[in-house]
Amino acid sequence: MDHCPDYLTIQALIDGEENDQALLKHLQDCFACRLQYRQLSSMVKLADGLKCEAKLPANFYHAMERKLTPAPFPTALVSLAVLLLVLASLLLLGPTYFEWWLSVGITSQVSLVLDALLDLFAISRLVSSSWVISGLAALVTMELFILKMLKNVEGWQNGW
Ligand SMILES: [Zn+2]
Repeated sequence: MDHCPDYLTIQALIDGEENDQALLKHLQDCFACRLQYRQLSSMVKLADGLKCEAKLPANFYHAMERKLTPAPFPTALVSLAVLLLVLASLLLLGPTYFEWWLSVGITSQVSLVLDALLDLFAISRLVSSSWVISGLAALVTMELFILKMLKNVEGWQNGW
């Protein structure tokens, strides 16, 4: 062993989680590490000998969990407020901006849906309907899987 181990390694040795022979040999040869080992060992023995009468309240973990869990964020209300703010600012800036937003924003969304439907129609003419249905079923399954993953990631508790 070229260098002295850190506190955690010596602690692991004391706890019996580490039994590297090179580390043991280093402890025999290095005065500083041996001293550190003895000090940590005596602290562990002292801590083990402490008797503590204090107990945590019965609902401590439940109260801690309640404090750590963030309050639900009103996403829908904030989205609605942002949409209303955007619409109001567009109207205040000038009707031409509002018309531009309607023509570009809404029209592009509608055209996406129409394109998807027309593509589905074109695909259904090229292949049999069972392929289209199985493809849609695969897409729905994939979406359900993604929603399930998002539920796990975001920790939703809506019970679905
Ligand atoms: Zn050392």
